[in-house]
Amino acid sequence: MAKFNKKTVEDLDVNGKRVLVRCDFNVPLKEGVITDDTRIRAALPTIQYLINNGARVILCSHLGKPKGTAKPELSLAPVAVRLSELLGKDVCFAADDEVVGPNAKAAVEAMKDGDVVLLQNTRYRAEEEKNAENFSEELGSLADLFVNDAFGTAHRAHCSTVGVTKFVKESANGYLMAKEVEFLGNAVENPVRPFVCILGGAKVADKLAVIENLLNKADTLIIGGGMAYTFLKAKGYEIGTSLLDESKVDYCKEMLARAEENGVKLLLPVDTVVTKAFPEPIDAVVETEVYDSDKIPADKMGMDIGPKTRELFADAIKNAKTVVWNGPMGVFENPQLAEGTKAVARALAEADCTSIIGGGDSAAAVNSLGFADRITHISTGGGASLEFLEGKELPGITAMTDKD
Ligand code: ATP
Repeated sequence: MAKFNKKTVEDLDVNGKRVLVRCDFNVPLKEGVITDDTRIRAALPTIQYLINNGARVILCSHLGKPKGTAKPELSLAPVAVRLSELLGKDVCFAADDEVVGPNAKAAVEAMKDGDVVLLQNTRYRAEEEKNAENFSEELGSLADLFVNDAFGTAHRAHCSTVGVTKFVKESANGYLMAKEVEFLGNAVENPVRPFVCILGGAKVADKLAVIENLLNKADTLIIGGGMAYTFLKAKGYEIGTSLLDESKVDYCKEMLARAEENGVKLLLPVDTVVTKAFPEPIDAVVETEVYDSDKIPADKMGMDIGPKTRELFADAIKNAKTVVWNGPMGVFENPQLAEGTKAVARALAEADCTSIIGGGDSAAAVNSLGFADRITHISTGGGASLEFLEGKELPGITAMTDKD
């Protein structure tokens, strides 16, 4: 557990100190207007805590992909306005194209305890994504302490997530980050059992390392979605024109054997909803049929888990104490092919367990079904949460100061 034994914002003495906070203000913008401020709201607990405890709060974030140049349409200026409304206090925006420039330095110099300054988009600087020493040092020169609250970029070693920690006295996780570590980190490293993992989505290739890691950790591994057909093929079944990654059939055979060796129950779809072809457009009305998974006709395409599978998966979820889910069970963008994903979402919402969703499509499915408030934790970072499930160390977490 040592790798998660990191200081949190409450372990720091922040009174009167300059605290640089890496937030995730990567919000959707349309013509300079923020269309969804969820990420700004999510950052408020950490910012508010720092204000209330007399810190001088210097915020930074990336926004979009300016690729090392100052793109005015990716300025964080609109975020400063919205943040100021949400906090009910002035947020001084330091509009330097070089991020740490004369405006930022003067604004920080003039700060009083409880003041808030927002720096310009860190990715205006080409050095940011290279974790270069010079920009890390510039960021660090503004602050005494560093707090990372941007889980979505925790799997990247950048100046504003990792490099900067070398140039401040102490670094700690913010509330958002601490919550991700508590739920995702603990679920995988130290789960209350039975521990059930559900993987879906399009391709086996995207989740090779996740499957391998979870076969060492989970009691039951459920595989649905497009990736299940390569496993069914590995079992020698006809899978028709379903999604297949031919180059991964042997890998899937190996994983089936590994599950048996490790005593892990590996559940695959026992029946499948098929169509003649992939719907075009994706939400077009389609003609569906259901076949057992070993009887898929050669000219049909598997699109969703069937009713028997929904029950099988729901049963496994019902008996679990910890469940982690990443990836839809079928082509859920089409309402006729969304029943499998919905069934898993419902089972998770109804289960008496710690339920964790790894972001992306599965989070969207749970939100649209109105089940979000019955899930213990919905991760804010798709890529970062997958790396957690792979058992990798996330540089943005590793770089924080260890607890005493
Ligand atoms: P995200 O990070 O967005 O959550 P993910 O890991 O959840 O991604 P992806 O690998 O991106 O999942 O796969 C999601 C896509 O998989 C969806 O667009 C869905 O339509 C598609 N998909 C699911 N089942 C099938 C299937 N049987 N055949 C083809 N595509 C499928």
